[in-house]
Amino acid sequence: MRYVSTRGQAPHVGFIDAVLGGLAPDGGLYVPEDWPKILPAEIAGFADRPYAEVAARVIGAFAEGEIAPADLLTMCQEAYSSFTHAAVVPLTQLSANVFLAELFHGPSLAFKDVAMQILARLYDHLLGREGRVQTILCATSGDTGGAAVEAFRGAKNVKVVALFPEGRISEVQRRFMTTAAESNVACVAVKGSFDDCQAIVKAAFQDQSLRQAVDLSGVNSINFARIAAQAVYYFTTAASLGAPERKVSFAVPSGNFGDAFAGYVAHRMGLPMGQILVATNVNDILARTFETGRYSRGKVHPTMSPAMDIQSASNFERLYFEGVQREATETARAFTAFADTGAIDVPPKAYAAMRELFRGVAVSEADTARTMVRTLNETGELVDPHTAVALAALRRSDLKGPVVVMATAHAAKFPEAVAKACGVTPALPRGVADLAQRPERFDRLPAEAETIKAYVRAFSEG
Ligand SMILES: *Cc1c(COP(=O)(O)O)cnc(C)c1O
Repeated sequence: MRYVSTRGQAPHVGFIDAVLGGLAPDGGLYVPEDWPKILPAEIAGFADRPYAEVAARVIGAFAEGEIAPADLLTMCQEAYSSFTHAAVVPLTQLSANVFLAELFHGPSLAFKDVAMQILARLYDHLLGREGRVQTILCATSGDTGGAAVEAFRGAKNVKVVALFPEGRISEVQRRFMTTAAESNVACVAVKGSFDDCQAIVKAAFQDQSLRQAVDLSGVNSINFARIAAQAVYYFTTAASLGAPERKVSFAVPSGNFGDAFAGYVAHRMGLPMGQILVATNVNDILARTFETGRYSRGKVHPTMSPAMDIQSASNFERLYFEGVQREATETARAFTAFADTGAIDVPPKAYAAMRELFRGVAVSEADTARTMVRTLNETGELVDPHTAVALAALRRSDLKGPVVVMATAHAAKFPEAVAKACGVTPALPRGVADLAQRPERFDRLPAEAETIKAYVRAFSEG
């Protein structure tokens, strides 16, 4: 399988280089040259197979010829044995036609684990094969850092430096990063904002002398392996509910559009679907785009669903590329214009194609809180604020038939918001109940690119 850049100016690469490289050198995102297909009979059979086997099948379709199927299966089995539920992504029924896909049974209690756990095994395997050691540098506003640290701790060929804004993430989120004892992990509390952290990461990636000294890599949501890993649970949940015979719809709490785009990928691979409802909080760039055809950045407002406080959804470039029939020149023009002006119009034909599958709904903070309360009263389930955004969006949509709602975090990951709305403090699951007692280990640094680059270099070489 070859991978092309959405901007058309980068050499085509194989799966391994697309994964380890992250962003394409022309600034675009990698997508496979064509979508591998899975036939209806095989999709129906997914209902009877263990999650790890379906994962190896779906991810394997993108890695063909580059990773031996038996190796990939072992990696998937190891990755998903770190989940505390035997089904990995179990379904919980809320009403006649509404089901929660519980994506939060991984080590850091958020859906990022589903992709990060397999990504870590892929990295270690591929780097080991090439005799390379990479340093993963990531900035986190909360969940990505914890998932990355949990996934890569103890990896032989990977070191991880996670930067987080001091005092601006929740204690539970911080502790998922800072309580890892393994020496290949370093966490840094930066005296600044998440944007400062992200700017420092960008500066590090652009520093050629640093990159000559250190083999740097990123694991943010534009990494295609993460998308492939997320396509898996669209197949498993839909098959459990009767796909491909029965068409299932999905409601997805969205920020960077990685999770919802994975649904598009599953659809292109042959999974029949109703609709994908893209649910946002008041940071509604995606909801507006799917309702109006104009992709335009707004101001970022802090909300109780912080993983979606985003006004520029990186993965949307992939859908745009598909929408304009893979015209790379047009995609490059549009996203250069977006970077400059903060707004672009989706061409009418591309917009019509997107509307065949996608709908968008934005949800207010009050509606999110009300939905947490209502869900508790009607079903006894405590849902986290991100999941509540999707449930609230679903109530306001006209989706018909069975709907799978992506439950992207455990309620205990956002205890303050849940307690404030519902009057109940969600308990941490058994395996992490002692999180607050575990010793923490992290460094504090000023928000200065030079200082942090020197830190990354020393840690990587040490
Ligand atoms: C990252 C995240 C999201 C948003 O996912 P995208 O792929 O960025 O759209 C939603 N909910 C939670 C809990 C998250 O951590």
